[in-house]
Amino acid sequence: MSAMTDTFPQLRIGNGYDIHRLVPGRALILGGVNVLHPDGLGLDGHSDADVLCHAITDALLGALSLGDIGKYFPPEDPRWKDANSLLLLEKVLELVLGLGWKIVNIDAVIIAERPKLKPHIDQMRNNLAKSLGVTVDFIGVKATTNEKLGPEGREEGISSHAVVLLQQN
Ligand code: MG
Repeated sequence: MSAMTDTFPQLRIGNGYDIHRLVPGRALILGGVNVLHPDGLGLDGHSDADVLCHAITDALLGALSLGDIGKYFPPEDPRWKDANSLLLLEKVLELVLGLGWKIVNIDAVIIAERPKLKPHIDQMRNNLAKSLGVTVDFIGVKATTNEKLGPEGREEGISSHAVVLLQQN
């Protein structure tokens, strides 16, 4: 075994993806921020349907091969009805920390045709940093449109992708 292997920290990478449908009569919650949609649409789902939190949660679980969000928070479980997804993220973080890992950094993107998310990005990053116990510099959140292509482009839904890097303590 080389000296490099002895001293280099053990790292794991995870990726997560989620999409939820845009519907009338629901709040649009992204990264724990209640975003006003110009047509009053929000994301449908059992929990608050926060796709950004769900993508990051799945990335954390994926990094340690722990399965996916549905395994820990099944949609048929009434406990998670309208649940704040930042709290679900915090529960998965506890699992990760308990196994002796910590977050190096997270990078995520939200794909939404409307509304403009730029004014809300810093609040999302602050919410995530607070829930994950890291400083905001280690949480990247970006937003893009889908150039009117696909389900996000047709405004049928909003999706998110995330990657997370973990380091063993
Ligand atoms: Mg979801």
